[in-house]
Amino acid sequence: MIYIYNSFSRSIEELRTINKKKVGLYTCGPTVYSELHIGHARTFIFFDIFKRFLIKKGYSILHVQNFTDIDEKITRVAKNKKINERQLTEFIINEYHKDMEKLKIFKPDIEPLTSEYIQEIDKAINEMKNKSLLYKNGMDLFFDLSKIPNFITKIKYILDKSFPEELEKNNEMQNFIIWRYDDCSPYHIASGKGVPGWHVECYAMVNKNLGIPFDIQGGGTDLIYPHHIYEDAISIGIKDTEFARYYMHVAHLQFENRKMSKSDVNIIYLKDLLNKYGPDVVRLYLEASIHYREILSFSDKDITDMAIRIKSIKDKIKTIMEEKGGSSSIKMEILKNFYGKLEYDIDIPSAFTEFEQNIDLCLKNGVADIDKFKKEVEDISFILGVDFI
Ligand SMILES: [Zn+2]
Repeated sequence: MIYIYNSFSRSIEELRTINKKKVGLYTCGPTVYSELHIGHARTFIFFDIFKRFLIKKGYSILHVQNFTDIDEKITRVAKNKKINERQLTEFIINEYHKDMEKLKIFKPDIEPLTSEYIQEIDKAINEMKNKSLLYKNGMDLFFDLSKIPNFITKIKYILDKSFPEELEKNNEMQNFIIWRYDDCSPYHIASGKGVPGWHVECYAMVNKNLGIPFDIQGGGTDLIYPHHIYEDAISIGIKDTEFARYYMHVAHLQFENRKMSKSDVNIIYLKDLLNKYGPDVVRLYLEASIHYREILSFSDKDITDMAIRIKSIKDKIKTIMEEKGGSSSIKMEILKNFYGKLEYDIDIPSAFTEFEQNIDLCLKNGVADIDKFKKEVEDISFILGVDFI
């Protein structure tokens, strides 16, 4: 059994997928106007390890991750660089794929682009219109949250202490944009020229590729509100059902006590870190230093320490293999212990420490069955995406 923390119920729940041994996973991808920083990488690597773990547990996964290629920031950056928007988004997507490949991240099965989903978005907008969920403000279309009974109570519960009190009092604040009118936009739907809001974009992509409800919506913690909560409102409004069964969120990364974001000057680009340390160290530093729901404070010392730990484990495994395990009658269960830690809310740091300690014991006591040892280390290497053997 696998237990995961569901941000919407705020509790650890047993993973029960809609179809047995199948997982429908949607993660919100990048808005493609600048290169990735390591805060993004933490989320992407986490879901990669999660997927690899599910595969080893016998699940098949349908993973959808979008690229938001319509956004004001894209327009602005393209203008500054004196290139057209398509040139910019294609370049950034290409760089993104190269980074993901270097990081050994499995490619999502489907990577939809907003610009290719205008028809699907239009379909959702029509459904919302038919259910009187929208209102016009000037030429823009807004979602009227008051049409969803008790939704503020739900937001209050999910956000708990971080619930913005003014949200309860201010009706304007509760409503969110579905379609922004723009006469210069190349995108055209029945409501006119314009661009879609972000929440309806992901709704349409999930609806088309996974169906609603689906199993797991993932992303960084900053997406809980408003993005994931408002996708859910759209789903309840149109289909009278919750959007996803589980919501998994990876905490952000901070640098000198500040959250790292694209607008920050203290940004650490993934490329620089990859060039300096390589994929194994980057993967395990971001995922095995601290649990994914805890904020990670970037430190050069910590990442160097992680590099030393990984090198030491690889050296010890090499010695064990060269000595063919030595002579021992002690049966080690390296993999079982490793799985045990991951099964309870994907505790990668504890699983990794367990693995490290078991390798020490194997080196000290020898291993009874060298083939079994090799197979177990290979399985762990697969899940972490690090070649220990
Ligand atoms: Zn999204």
